[in-house]
Order: sequence, then C-alpha cells, then structure tokens
Amino acid sequence: MKFNTKLIHGGISEDPTTGAVSIPVYRSSTFHQHKLGAEPKWEYARTGNPTRQALEQLIAEIENGTDGFAFASGSAAIHAVFSLFSAGDHIIIGNDVYGGTFRLVNKVLKRFGLEFSVVDTRDLKAVEDAIQANTKAIYFETPTNPLLKITDIQAVADIAKKHDLKTIVDNTFATPYNQNPLTLGVDIVVHSATKYLGGHSDVVAGLAVTNDKQIAEDLAFLQNSIGSVLGPDDSWLLMRGIKTLGVRMRVHHENAKLVYDYLTNNDKVANVYYPGNPESSDYEIAKKQMRGFGAMISFELQPGLDAKKFVESLQLIDLAESLGGIESLIEVPAVMTHAAIPREIRLQNGITDELIRLSVGIEDEEDLLADLQQAFAKI
Ligand code: PLP
Repeated sequence: MKFNTKLIHGGISEDPTTGAVSIPVYRSSTFHQHKLGAEPKWEYARTGNPTRQALEQLIAEIENGTDGFAFASGSAAIHAVFSLFSAGDHIIIGNDVYGGTFRLVNKVLKRFGLEFSVVDTRDLKAVEDAIQANTKAIYFETPTNPLLKITDIQAVADIAKKHDLKTIVDNTFATPYNQNPLTLGVDIVVHSATKYLGGHSDVVAGLAVTNDKQIAEDLAFLQNSIGSVLGPDDSWLLMRGIKTLGVRMRVHHENAKLVYDYLTNNDKVANVYYPGNPESSDYEIAKKQMRGFGAMISFELQPGLDAKKFVESLQLIDLAESLGGIESLIEVPAVMTHAAIPREIRLQNGITDELIRLSVGIEDEEDLLADLQQAFAKI
C-alpha cells in the first residue's frame, strides 16, 4: 500500500467482531475471562484496548515500524521513552527542543539520576565529542521547535550505531507524511499527536514507534507500568484525524510556501526560518531526508517593530499555543511554548524574545495573506 492508502486502510481497518469500517470505541475497562489464568487477548484496558490497538498498529505502519504505543500526551510518550534508561545513564539531547521537553529533562528526569548533554545535533563532530562511557542515547527533533533546524538523521543514527547507542527522534513537525526516521536508522520515533496527526486541535495525545523487538517489549512494559495510556475515545478521534493527514498536508504545504514567500519579501521582516529556505545551510539535508518541508515558519520582525502588537492585531490567525491544526496558529515562544527555558539559555540557542512561530493552516491562501497584510500595516 502507498502512503495515503495506508492512512485509510492501514492498521486494523475493520472491526474484527462486527465488520464496522470505523473501529468502534471500546469503552470497557475490563474484559470477561472464560478460564482462570488462560492469558486472554484482552484483560484490562490500561494493558490493552482494541480501539487503542487499532491506532497503535496504524501509527506503526505509517512510520514504517513494527510496534506503536499511544499515550495521554506527547510529553507522556517522551517520558515513557526516557524511562527506558536508568539512573547514571547519559543522553545527548538536541539544543532546540520543545520547552516542555526541556522542562521534563531538567526538572524531572535529572532528579531521577539521568544525565544529559545539550548539543546542536547538526554538528556531527559535536555529537561524537559528547559521547561518554555511560552514554546510552541521542535524542533530537528535526525540524526543531521553534527554529526549524534540520539534523542529518541518517548521519546521527550511523554515529549512534558505531557506539551502540539508541537514536530517538521527535517527528512531530515533519509528520510521517514528510519523513520516516526509522527508515533512516533511528530506533524510536515519538510524536505529539496533538499536532498534525490529530490535525484539528481537538485531542491531546502522544505516540511512540519502534522497529526493534526488545525496545517494543520494554515500551509495552513501561506503558502498562507507568499507565499514561490514551483513552479509547481519544484513540478513535486521533485515528479519524490521521486518515486525512495526506490531504491536509498538501494544502498546509502550499499555503506555507506562499506565506514563506510573502514573509521573505516583506521589508518589516528581518529573518525567516523554514526548512524550505534554499539560502539556509540546512536546506540540502532537508531536501535529502524530507519529502516536503512542512508548514511551520518562524520569523523575527525588524528591530524596533512590536511583535506583541503584530500577533495581537491578527484577526483570522489565532494567537494560541500548539500547532499542526487546520486553523493557522501563531505564538511567541519566549512567553508561550518555550517560557520554561531560562532566558539566557533561550538566547544562547537563538530563541529571541521577538521570535514569532506560525503554524500555517489550510484556510484559503488569500484570507491568510490578507490577515498578515493588515497586521503588518498596524506596526
Ligand atoms: N514535541 C514537540 C515537538 C512539541 O511541539 C510538543 C508540544 O508542543 C510536544 C512534544 C509535547 O506534546 P504534548 O503537548 O502533546 O504533550
């Protein structure tokens, strides 16, 4: 099956009991056992639920993995994946990650004895230099949130293999429509499915996928033991979102290219960050490993222009956290999604106070451009 067909017919495409083409929402928290101790397929819904399982098989197929796991949020998925490691283990982490991931690492996981080195994973020498005797994994986003930096996935996975490390990629921004890290040698992919996979800003969910049997066994154990599973209603809603990922991404891409062109030709804009920027040093790697450039764009206004006034002047584009929904969303990372990162670290990594992040939706392009135009006219 090709990708768009897989989105619709992948996973468990019809209910085995009734033939329903939309997998039913199985709300039962427990399942009748015919014989004591006979290890039935379904026993308790934290351990396994038929609706969640259909979603888990679907994400495994569209990420070219063998096993998928659904969690209550992207952060819960990332937490479960980091729980594969133990106190005293060292992990190399990219220097541009979602603020909540930074917070999880610094305020939670370090308290449990995990050690981290922060590295710009685009710099392969820096990655290799950061490897220590106790290093167990390399974790990064590509494109990153919010600066859209691109790391060469295959090159990092090759370094990791040479040193017997696991590679973990947060594929939220690219989505499996644009990139499949597992195919490039990565061991685990994580998603905030709250974003493009759900696609309608109506569900909070997280996913993890692997193609390694041991990791799959360990993640199943952790998912059941920690218990931050996705409920059946949200699993169903997420599956419904995933079915239209392909059609949505095509329009997201078209609109993003137009908005990118508009911003790069705008005198009031100083810098534009977008994986499809041919001037960027990351462009060739983006072209090599991505089928499309996604629809996230970050930019800075010319010095002295008021970013707050600009985002507050927009009428159609929503000033809101999150991304990847059908509606365009705009935010200022320094005070919103990345506020958990201390200012000096943020600035070191290039996230200025004025940086604006735009998730380009699938509205009619004329309306999006007109909204940007009228907001630019006000500053
Ligand atoms: N990873 C990335 C790249 C994100 O942008 C986010 C949230 O914004 C997360 C992970 C966390 O996901 P969630 O908000 O679903 O917990």
